[in-house]
Amino acid sequence: MSVEPKRYFLNHYPDHEDGGPSSITITPEKQKEMLDMLVNIVLKNFTKEAKHTDGGLYVGLAGGGYMMLYLSQLPGTESSRQTQYLQEALSFLKRPIQYMQAAGNRQHITDRTGFLTGNVGIMAVAAVVHHKLGQSAERDNALQQILAAASILQEPNWFANGGDELFVGRAGFLCAILWLRKHLNTQVYPDSECHRMLMTMVQSGLQYSKATSSPLPLMYHYYGTQYLGAAHGLAGILLVMLSFPNWLQQEPEVTGLLRQTIDGLAALQQPNGNFPCAMDELSGGRAEEDELVHWCHGAPGMIYLFAKAYTFFNDPKYLDVCIKCGEITWQKGLLKKGAGICHGIAGSGFVFLLLYRLTGDLKYIHRCKCFAKFIFSETFRKARTPDCPFSLFEGLAGTVCYLGDMLAPQQAAFPFFDLI
Ligand SMILES: [Zn+2]
Repeated sequence: MSVEPKRYFLNHYPDHEDGGPSSITITPEKQKEMLDMLVNIVLKNFTKEAKHTDGGLYVGLAGGGYMMLYLSQLPGTESSRQTQYLQEALSFLKRPIQYMQAAGNRQHITDRTGFLTGNVGIMAVAAVVHHKLGQSAERDNALQQILAAASILQEPNWFANGGDELFVGRAGFLCAILWLRKHLNTQVYPDSECHRMLMTMVQSGLQYSKATSSPLPLMYHYYGTQYLGAAHGLAGILLVMLSFPNWLQQEPEVTGLLRQTIDGLAALQQPNGNFPCAMDELSGGRAEEDELVHWCHGAPGMIYLFAKAYTFFNDPKYLDVCIKCGEITWQKGLLKKGAGICHGIAGSGFVFLLLYRLTGDLKYIHRCKCFAKFIFSETFRKARTPDCPFSLFEGLAGTVCYLGDMLAPQQAAFPFFDLI
């Protein structure tokens, strides 16, 4: 008899038969209906109150702003609707911005620098929303506040608990800049300054690796833990570095270091396709039932680095790593922690959307539909409610982005990580 796993529901969906049609039918109309249902739940429950203000894009109201911006850009959205969505985005952003401005420099330093959990992310979304509404003065004001974080982050030792990762550190800031460049069509922050920050990240990784005798040439920590995954870990940092091809072209030595580190990380992929959370798990490790298969920790987040490495180095061995990430996600990705993108089912689903974009294999669209269907199933009602059930990273605002991307899978991308 099979034992009910602790962290995920057993996947009983039949996989896709080679060349055959998907056994799961969800019409585009049905998909839109599912999407509208979730949007309404978020709008009704993610109330613009003090209790939802904190947490930046990750769990705060600003993530609702991102969801509305996302909806305004869905193909086929009429322009009057777009304006309405963008206005709603501003109303989500209002409270977090007021709070940020009132607190000023009394805010914790990581709230001032944070992309996913702080001001940088809030103001990045605000800048794009204002831009789309034609409000250039407000846009420029938002950009100014983002650049204020840069002067902190350029200081090599600005944060002793690990200042390079994606949530509060340099990788997050640079990720925000890349996203802003795409949406605003301007540099926002000069290349020369981005390159200076990237070199600081390289130096920081080299020094820490040396100091801790790490087997990998670049290594980082967050509060003393050498995380490997997308959220606070090495994979998120390396991914952002690989996203600056002009810089790497000027720095062949750095490119070599990055590749060596990526290969070292690839060697840590377990036979089942997952990755350990952190370096300290290599000796001893976690019991299999405690294994994390999440975007934040594990294969569903690692895949973004290896997808980028595949397109950057044009080496199919990295695609093999991605495909293995997809297999473990199919096996163990119906997570019990909710429907969100950080450690929930939509985060697993985005893995299949990425693999579809990488390979064109319809098997991944089938898997993606199965996971969407599961979110609306009776069984899933037994899932645990996350702490912030309507937010962008833990809750349904992120699930909305997943269902929306299923309508246009050739353009699908995990929020802020369109890296192909
Ligand atoms: Zn998570």
